[in-house]
Amino acid sequence: MSLKVYNTATRSLEEFVPLRESEVGVYACGPTIYNHAHIGNFRAFLFFDLVHRHLEWSGYDVRFVMNLTDVDDKVIEAAYAAGMSIEEHTEPFGETFQADCLTLGVRTVDRYPRATEYIERMVDFIGTLIDNGHAYAADDGAVYFSITSFPEYGKLKGIDTSTLIAGSRVAHDEYEKEDARDFALWKATTAEDEAVGAAWDSPWGRGRPGWHLECSVMSMAELGDTLDMHLGGEDLIFPHHENEIAQSECATGHPFVRYWMHVKHLFVEGRKMSKSLGNFIRVRELLEEGYDPAAIRHLLISSHYRGDLNFTRDGLKASSSAVQRLLDFEARLTDVATDDSVEPSTLPELATTMVVGFRTAMDDDFNSADALGSVFGFVTKVNAELDERGTVPSGDRDAALDGLRSMDQVLGLLEVAHASRTVDDDLVSWVERMIEERAAARAAKDFGRADEIRDSLSAKNIVLEDGAGETRWKIVG
Ligand SMILES: [Zn+2]
Repeated sequence: MSLKVYNTATRSLEEFVPLRESEVGVYACGPTIYNHAHIGNFRAFLFFDLVHRHLEWSGYDVRFVMNLTDVDDKVIEAAYAAGMSIEEHTEPFGETFQADCLTLGVRTVDRYPRATEYIERMVDFIGTLIDNGHAYAADDGAVYFSITSFPEYGKLKGIDTSTLIAGSRVAHDEYEKEDARDFALWKATTAEDEAVGAAWDSPWGRGRPGWHLECSVMSMAELGDTLDMHLGGEDLIFPHHENEIAQSECATGHPFVRYWMHVKHLFVEGRKMSKSLGNFIRVRELLEEGYDPAAIRHLLISSHYRGDLNFTRDGLKASSSAVQRLLDFEARLTDVATDDSVEPSTLPELATTMVVGFRTAMDDDFNSADALGSVFGFVTKVNAELDERGTVPSGDRDAALDGLRSMDQVLGLLEVAHASRTVDDDLVSWVERMIEERAAARAAKDFGRADEIRDSLSAKNIVLEDGAGETRWKIVG
């Protein structure tokens, strides 16, 4: 068995062969922290996590790097509008992003480089490109990459650049493929840049790096000139990744990336996400609505990353049931009656078949949909056998549990479900105190205060159920 990945650069499924046996270098384009990441961004982040986990589960030593973009057109515009420095503006979004990742079980990566920490290297990198004739300083104070100096320009997206006019330029970070032109590596400073602290000295005057350059410099600084895998959303293929290839390969003379992988965009309730529809959903909102983080994770990994995924609340409810099924199954196995003198069961064999099916699916370009299929098939079969016989040898039970837990090192569903259901002692005593206070308020007919207490509990995802003579509580989401 070997891992096969769909390489955007060759538009084909290829066997994954890392450059070095010792360590696989993976770079993923992380969030631009000018705003809160939404559920569409998290489809990509959870795919990155599946890649990370599956590689590690498969025995690779992985060095995984994901950047946080803290200076680009969007960051500067947002910071300026908020009257803050880029540092002040990006800080809370970076924190929320990390918190959301933690909640959804995204494994911590080795490095989270921020563009502003690499400015000196970026300036040096531009100097190299100018020296070897791939970039030029223009009269607008910016430095541009000359795309006609790199005949392979356009190969990732597959665009014909033969009709390009040499020297025609585009300064924006984002543009359409029809606008393939010389792009800015360094941009001359503006009043807005200075106001938000996004300006640095350089041999070409004060300015700031272009967005595309940032990922090239950070990825190579952390992983070397050639990366094994470079991951991103499909919207990044052009111009972002096309430009990364051009500037990186021209600066080093080496191939930049061995395997490019891109995640397809997500639909929300059947529609594309867009500003005008206002259908950007944040992870936090779903948690506040009471959804289980493990259900969000399940839904986002339930279809293959290159296939369509329609995010709906009904789908989330189905995912909640799927997660509950796994939890119930794990609990049943843990509690099942064991007796080593009874006939052997088929549980070990079912577990082996499941692991093989799971590995085959994940090795087939990270097909998480099929991988989940083999896990749930296993659940069904084991449940049926337990219904029939009730008692199994303890070794058989252990084999089934081990199989389930091994899969979860990649899927992370039980892991997230358990983490979100763990209640610490401080919380328990706080909740019990609140319930007593509420009972006292109700007895004194102070219903305003009683409602206030219920609200403060529900803000922490705690739901009260008033029964005969006592109030029970549970954590939702
Ligand atoms: Zn990037």
